[in-house]
Amino acid sequence: MAASAARGAGLAMECAPSQDAFLVPMSTAAQTGNGALAFTPEVERATRGIYEQVRHVIPEVEWPVHAPLIAAINELKRERNAVILAHNYQTPEIFYGVADYRGDSLGLAQEGARTDADVIVMCGVRFMAETTKVLSPDKTVLLPDFEAGCSLAASITAADVRRLKAQHPGVPVVCYVNAYADVRAEADICCTSANAVKVVESLGADKVIFIPDGYLGRYVAGQTDVEIILWEGTCEVHERFTPQDIREFRQSRPGVHVIAHPECSPAVLREVDFVGSTSGMISHIEAEKPDEVVLITECSMSDNVAVKFPDVEFVRPCNLCPHMKRITLPNILRSLQTLTPAIEVAPEVVDGARRSLERMLAVGRASATA
Ligand code: SF4
Repeated sequence: MAASAARGAGLAMECAPSQDAFLVPMSTAAQTGNGALAFTPEVERATRGIYEQVRHVIPEVEWPVHAPLIAAINELKRERNAVILAHNYQTPEIFYGVADYRGDSLGLAQEGARTDADVIVMCGVRFMAETTKVLSPDKTVLLPDFEAGCSLAASITAADVRRLKAQHPGVPVVCYVNAYADVRAEADICCTSANAVKVVESLGADKVIFIPDGYLGRYVAGQTDVEIILWEGTCEVHERFTPQDIREFRQSRPGVHVIAHPECSPAVLREVDFVGSTSGMISHIEAEKPDEVVLITECSMSDNVAVKFPDVEFVRPCNLCPHMKRITLPNILRSLQTLTPAIEVAPEVVDGARRSLERMLAVGRASATA
């Protein structure tokens, strides 16, 4: 959405109304006669604190475009008794502008379940909204763009898992949470990228089937004696990184600390200083405080983490996830206005998907008390 006109002291700017005529009257986010939202002095005041937080990752010239939408969403969120969850790969105006909870997909779904909100808006992709619905079946769970998919989740179906089980009778199935709920319902247990090795070893089996991420499966196989039967799904964002990319970062920025997500290929992971989940990356930066970092993961993560660590220099490799980028401030607002698209998960799938998640959480509790 582009800013279309500036008024008065430069504070009254309209957001283009064509595809986003906002229908709900709002007090802070004043509407212009043609239905567009205006960057009024009131909006500027209401969003000033947010802008102070993100000013070094969002240019000042862009703020009049984002601010009226942010003010309108935050106002409507209160009216709807809604909470907004934002994944680490969302853009900073969403991540810091409207989200109540920020983080990785499982952490977000758990936060959503703990709230007494009637409505949860998932700013992420569809499998994340499904996880949220599985943990909050009585709440309305919205995904602002229903087409926000995922190459990894799309790589496998529930029928594929049933076939794998028939080919390897008695071998337990471990499913990374980046999968649709009906796939997770077929698995014995879920895992995250942070706990995958621990989950695999918790089963006490010689062999496990690991779905759907082939690269994460190989990473796990390198850390355990358990034999791993792989499924060759990939994340289209992480598979784009090459070992040559890492060498070029090191050549151009001597001393740069390189951190990668385990959805990258084994050849990439061999070149880096640290491998971790999105939360693991943040904890690692917090502990190590490197001067200069490159995060080998989705591009927006660097912007969001840079806000948290203003003294660390971030080199930004720009691999965007096209599915995550389907979520925008205009479609979040529209979703809250219309309470669509709402995510539904069949009751029998909810039971199976919840069981595989709870089994994983029990592994975490057992190791925490060990
Ligand atoms: S970054 Fe990769 S795993 Fe995450 S939603 Fe996008 S395609 Fe899926």
